[in-house]
Amino acid sequence: MGRNEELFHKAVFLENRHRFQEAAFYYEELAKQKDITLDMLHALVQYFYKIGNYEKVLSLAKEALEKGGDLEKFVPIFVEVWRKAGSKIEELWGVYEQYGVSKQPKVCLPILQQLWAQGENVYLEAVELCEVTERLFAESIAYQDIYMDVILFLIVLEIEKENFPQARFHLRKLLFLQSDLSNKADELFVCSVKLDLLEEWWKNENLKNLSLCLCEENWDFFLIVQKMHQRKITKEEWQQFCQRTFVDPFLAEKQFLYMVYGKLAIGEEISSQEIEKVKQFHTHWLAAKIVVMVDGLKGYDFLHHHFIHYADVGEAVRIFHRLEKTRGIGKKHDLDQVTITVLGGGEKIGGSSILISVKGHHILLDAGIYLEGENVIPNYALLDQLNISGHDIDALIITHAHIDHSAAAPYLHRKYPNMPIYATEETKQLMEVILADLFKQYRAEEIGFDEADLYKTLEHIKCVRHSFFIPSKDDEWKVTFYYAGHILGAVAVLLEIKGVSIFYTGDFSITDQKTVKGMVLPSNLHVDVLITENTYGSLPMNACMSRKEQEEQLIKQIKKVMDRGGNILIPAFALGRAQEIILILHEYFQSNRFFPFFVYIDGLVVEVSHIYDSYLSLEGKHVSLLTKGIWEARSFYRQGSLEEFIERVMSQGKNCIIASSGMLADGSASSRYAERIVSDKKSAIAFSGYVDEESAGHSLLNHQVNMVKLNGRLYAVEAEILSIRLSAHASREEVIKNAVSLNPSAVFLVHGDHERKYSVPRSQGEVYPTAFSLLKNNMTVPVIAAKNHTVYTFLRGEVFEWRYNG
Ligand SMILES: [Zn+2]
Ligand SMILES: [Zn+2]
Repeated sequence: MGRNEELFHKAVFLENRHRFQEAAFYYEELAKQKDITLDMLHALVQYFYKIGNYEKVLSLAKEALEKGGDLEKFVPIFVEVWRKAGSKIEELWGVYEQYGVSKQPKVCLPILQQLWAQGENVYLEAVELCEVTERLFAESIAYQDIYMDVILFLIVLEIEKENFPQARFHLRKLLFLQSDLSNKADELFVCSVKLDLLEEWWKNENLKNLSLCLCEENWDFFLIVQKMHQRKITKEEWQQFCQRTFVDPFLAEKQFLYMVYGKLAIGEEISSQEIEKVKQFHTHWLAAKIVVMVDGLKGYDFLHHHFIHYADVGEAVRIFHRLEKTRGIGKKHDLDQVTITVLGGGEKIGGSSILISVKGHHILLDAGIYLEGENVIPNYALLDQLNISGHDIDALIITHAHIDHSAAAPYLHRKYPNMPIYATEETKQLMEVILADLFKQYRAEEIGFDEADLYKTLEHIKCVRHSFFIPSKDDEWKVTFYYAGHILGAVAVLLEIKGVSIFYTGDFSITDQKTVKGMVLPSNLHVDVLITENTYGSLPMNACMSRKEQEEQLIKQIKKVMDRGGNILIPAFALGRAQEIILILHEYFQSNRFFPFFVYIDGLVVEVSHIYDSYLSLEGKHVSLLTKGIWEARSFYRQGSLEEFIERVMSQGKNCIIASSGMLADGSASSRYAERIVSDKKSAIAFSGYVDEESAGHSLLNHQVNMVKLNGRLYAVEAEILSIRLSAHASREEVIKNAVSLNPSAVFLVHGDHERKYSVPRSQGEVYPTAFSLLKNNMTVPVIAAKNHTVYTFLRGEVFEWRYNG
């Protein structure tokens, strides 16, 4: 037996016989030795903890972790004594970042809770932990307790950020869980009070039963609020409620709102001071509801202004819609003989093209190609079937240059050479580079046009902005463009003819981005028919995070890779996303003039960025995408080979490459860099948007593979695979707010997976109410999840559909 074992055994032997004094001697001796095993370290950690030497506990626990010790054995005790030992916050972050802690919820959660208690921002880490835990819980019910704890923690963080719709999404996951929730009943209840989800408790059988497990304070609150809701509360009961003191902070906070609500229920007047105080709770649906109950139509402004905080609450949508309708009374028009023909881009994303017909006048909105599946071009044969020729269509309007909206324009131009095409100047310029690049990916037969067609089309495009007229037989279309955010030059389109107004959002973003401002519509704009994109209407993944958090996440990811000396490849769509990323890098890293690493751009990103630059400078913005530390990779390998350049640069580490395509398509610039990076442990590939299901990017992102095929060769996957959230589309809440605000007589949802149900493990019920279901169930006008190859016709306020096959 070696010296260490001898000391160790003696210590344990003595300790087991309660001879602590003597055991202590051997422990202290052992601690001075080298090459201590993990078992010994564990015993030593316990010993020093017992005698209150927390600094020693920390250093021993850290030593154990570095030697690969069991996280469950060493991390919790580290977290516990960390504060007592007066250690620095960086030490705690260090443990989180090393040793793979984030993959083990039980170990990770206490660290995040401790960091949060110290005032650290752990939101992104908590979101990541939630995703990890959800995957584990889907596989095994053994994770239920930790799953619930992680989600409850995240709910508190979302509440702290006043991100109530997202907090409700997480809370619904738990409320609808099909298992025993009794040990969490009180926590679930107070969160439901805070987030105005009590109605779920009244209508859901499981939750009704669960309410029987509530502690006395919560149970009392539950009963009295239910009585208010049913308007069965007596004055005495209301007075008692007002005088009570609630211990739970969520209940105590909500008590004031329910006092006012109860006052309404017993039929008493609310003072103007009380209403002013209610308005301070503008993120709470209950507050808005009270304001509307008291102020009626005058409450509209308040509701409109804050609606985004409760757009996921059915009752809020219903009331908002009712007010909007009252405001717009007398403005409705006869929609008979109005037809919407969805040629493509109705369901899912790709192939957007919609024919609008009003009393015999026709106009086409967008002509995009499909991004996946058998067909590339939308089925324009449907127009022939409907007996509509090129002469009948007054124009084609392109909303923006993304290929799912613009790339079938040359095909249509070939089919209908005389049909005018309108777009913004920015869109035309971007189409020139984006569409020319398509020939690398498609043969002319597949895509329906060749280079000659493309250039004829571009020449044929009329550049317009703001507002203009398009002649039609015996009348004209009045067309108004509204900048739609999303990408450079993107517009939403208002069409007016024969007294009918039709609004098409194209792809839009309400939030400002670095390259383009969000869409702003006139506050009094009401329309007859709304056709709205719905990309995130049934997807809680992307748009739920604030823009700032999305950006911070990107920066954090890049920093991490740079700190370990790796390279990061960001495969990005050439148009829009890449330019956003470049500007974000400028903003976060260039405060001291130089990037702390090299940034290269390659592929089509370069040409598009030049176009962006010319418009950014027109707007008087000082930033330029392509100066100061952003290098065009091509200028380095123009003489030599790309391989040689990649090898030379990558071997040094600390590079950030932004290259198209976004999904590592064979032959693309990004796929060439990926070949070098994908097998390097230190490096990372960070995807930033849509990835085709058949692409290399998709299999990497879904963690399905150990090997990946790039440009026909197999590579081992060693690099870290990340995903960046940077939305250029409206969130579910924004889609809903926009739809209700425009007060249409019918809503068509396009460009999204409208009826897809977002499901979470072991849960039943609508955890993420979709934009479609919220609008359909709460607006009193037709709300349609548009399908492709379908004609929608209005007759006496109703919408009828004909679906065409082939
Ligand atoms: Zn788009
Ligand atoms: Zn699109």
